[in-house]
Amino acid sequence: MLDLLRGRRVVVLSGAGCSTESGIPDYRGADGTERKRAPMQYGEFVRSADARARYWARSAVGWPRFTDARPNDGHRALARLEEAGLVRGVITQNIDGLHHAAGSRRVVELHGSLAAVRCLTCGEAEERGAFQERLLALNDRWSERLRREGGSGGIESAPDGDAELPAWAVASFRVPGCGGCGSVMKPDVVFFGESVPKERVDAAWRLFEEADVLLVAGSSLAVYSGRRFTDRARREGVPIAVINSGPTRADEAAAVKVDGRLGRVLPVLVDALVASAAGGSSV
Ligand code: NAD
Ligand code: ZN
Repeated sequence: MLDLLRGRRVVVLSGAGCSTESGIPDYRGADGTERKRAPMQYGEFVRSADARARYWARSAVGWPRFTDARPNDGHRALARLEEAGLVRGVITQNIDGLHHAAGSRRVVELHGSLAAVRCLTCGEAEERGAFQERLLALNDRWSERLRREGGSGGIESAPDGDAELPAWAVASFRVPGCGGCGSVMKPDVVFFGESVPKERVDAAWRLFEEADVLLVAGSSLAVYSGRRFTDRARREGVPIAVINSGPTRADEAAAVKVDGRLGRVLPVLVDALVASAAGGSSV
């Protein structure tokens, strides 16, 4: 791994595995199988008021935990590599903002960010924190009942800043509309069934084109949106390095694969790379 990355321009492609050590669950996990709960589909969200109530009820509960998440040693190691000039930037499939929080500067958030909510009709954006206040204000009795009935302590966290809830809580949840036009608000993230906005894909390709090596960190690459980068790397002969616990769709094409925990592997790798860039030890 060190030999492959040393002296090369590295672009990182990160996924949910980068953030599990910050307490945010991934979708697939080390055995490569999908979690039991299906993620929200774009078409369902747009068409169905019930689906939106379900989404926002769960999200209202999951949001405080999501905002509690802090970057871990893996995020910090990648930020250090960028600062040392060894990583050109990060293309991330994550929507949690933790690369930025760790100090990474060139980050393309391919799937957007949960920090913002946007109106599907007029495009007005609102901070998720402000939307949270409106969600809770419309559902104050609801929040009380949820607390009374054993609520959040027993509620399971899910990916996407989400949580599992009892049926009554989903059925009785009220969703605020856009502050400007009253229409439907959607988190500013790319749902399944939705495509990544062109300017964001373009920005990701521009970053990709700077790479001598593509380093995959914590992604199963089961989703095409991320896999398109390893597919192109393979076609163009850009070497791929993978750090992931469990299988990924790029394992066969990878020049190097380390099966391990990012919070442990990355800091060691970064120490060695920074030392060797400074003309120090050869690990
Ligand atoms: P994925 O869940 O398909 O794959 C994550 C991979 O990381 C798995 O192979 C898992 O075994 C591995 N992993 C988990 N913890 C690890 C660790 N500590 N060290 C090393 N490897 C670890 O995730 P994906 O490929 O990013 O695709 C999932 C989709 O879901 C993306 O589209 C993404 O937008 C979304 N998502 C985002 C978040 C987030 O923002 N944190 C969380 C869940 C899902
Ligand atoms: Zn609007």
